[in-house]
Amino acid sequence: KANGRGWFRLFESGMDDELQGRRKLEHDLRHALQHDELILHFQPLVDSNFRILAFEALVRWMHPTLGLVMPAQFIPLAEECGLIIPLGEWVMQAACTAAAGWSQPCRIAVNLSPAQILRTDLPTTIANILIKTGLPPDRLELEITEGVLMDNTDAAIKTLTELRELGTRLVLDDFGTGYSSLSYLQRFAFDKLKVDRSFVQRLASDSGSRAIIMAIIALSRSLDLEVTAEGVETEEQFRLLGATGCQEFQGYLIGRPMPHDEVENFLRNSSPLSPGQPRPRLLDL
Ligand code: C2E
Ligand code: MG
Ligand code: MG
Ligand code: MG
Repeated sequence: KANGRGWFRLFESGMDDELQGRRKLEHDLRHALQHDELILHFQPLVDSNFRILAFEALVRWMHPTLGLVMPAQFIPLAEECGLIIPLGEWVMQAACTAAAGWSQPCRIAVNLSPAQILRTDLPTTIANILIKTGLPPDRLELEITEGVLMDNTDAAIKTLTELRELGTRLVLDDFGTGYSSLSYLQRFAFDKLKVDRSFVQRLASDSGSRAIIMAIIALSRSLDLEVTAEGVETEEQFRLLGATGCQEFQGYLIGRPMPHDEVENFLRNSSPLSPGQPRPRLLDL
């Protein structure tokens, strides 16, 4: 948040300044791509025994004057000005390189923007990165939000089919926040849903959210889909989710997004665990 404040100052005083701020930001982002200012943080996804199943790659920008900038503050702009294509390719390359070097074969989850899905060369780009890094395709999970499926159904179907043929896994991110989700589940062969954080947050206080999560889990069972709960912050949420049959968890309770040099340490301390073994101490927050 401290870093964000300087950022918003750019936009504070009126439209002209705002436009200028955006131009500067766009210029800076272009520069960032060429000068190694982007980094990835990795957040663990675990099973109910806290065994690590995957890490999600989350991009950050180490801005020379603003400090660490979060994706909400530059991904939308990157999408508007087309920079999301080279940025997304950088993320894919960096994430697969990292995962290929880990001491354990956990998966790597990478977020894709709609503009990336709509590029017909995306499957080739990803195939080349997999070959170059040596990462087996089934260790790559591609996280997609449902917006792109609604607006550009035919193009999206074609790309997703090709990605599936490559052997990568397809994940529907932020599930439950968009529209007509159920029909998409049938139409596109997803491997997994990620229940949006907003439902998890209201889980303990709101029986409606709990009912929705239970319905999502029942649905995914019958469609043979895996389910991850995102944004798990408390022991109580973890327990309630486990009681509804959720088997995969991600959130600050399990681990915050961490720089790459902490991943190996996290892997060493967290596994291997056999099922039924007591859970390890939660990492200090
Ligand atoms: P997402 O894919 O839904 O990622 C989860 C976000 O929730 C991350 O925010 C993560 O840090 C945050 N989070 C995880 N656990 C908790 C928790 O327990 N509590 C709370 N309050 N938050 C939690 P982050 O890193 O700021 O990323 C935000 C969004 O930016 C991501 O949402 C994703 O849509 C997008 N994004 C991040 N990296 C990339 C990228 O490389 N490419 C694209 N296209 N989008 C990205
Ligand atoms: Mg995601
Ligand atoms: Mg998500
Ligand atoms: Mg989310």
